[in-house]
Amino acid sequence: MAKKNARVHALEGAEMTAEGLSYKGVILETVVEQCDGCERAVDFEGKNYCPSYAQPAKKWSHSVCNFATHVRAGVDKEGKVKVNPLKASKRAARGR
Ligand code: SF4
Repeated sequence: MAKKNARVHALEGAEMTAEGLSYKGVILETVVEQCDGCERAVDFEGKNYCPSYAQPAKKWSHSVCNFATHVRAGVDKEGKVKVNPLKASKRAARGR
């Protein structure tokens, strides 16, 4: 029996086109450095793409990606947004 919360770790039906990787009618851009460690990033023909967000660079240009599984945004004493890595135990608990 399939696991209830199992994530899709493949870009099923994705196709490489002249414009880029086409997935569900959207052209995906490759993930950026900040995505390193995120469980949503999926390898397709040697490059990593994000099925949750087509333009990872744009997602990170505003603040911390809210879909990220490896980090979470926090606010420090000066009110600046900080990137807080999630501990492995918290990441595991999220999957429950
Ligand atoms: S969910 Fe966010 S952090 Fe994770 S791969 Fe996609 S864009 Fe990057």
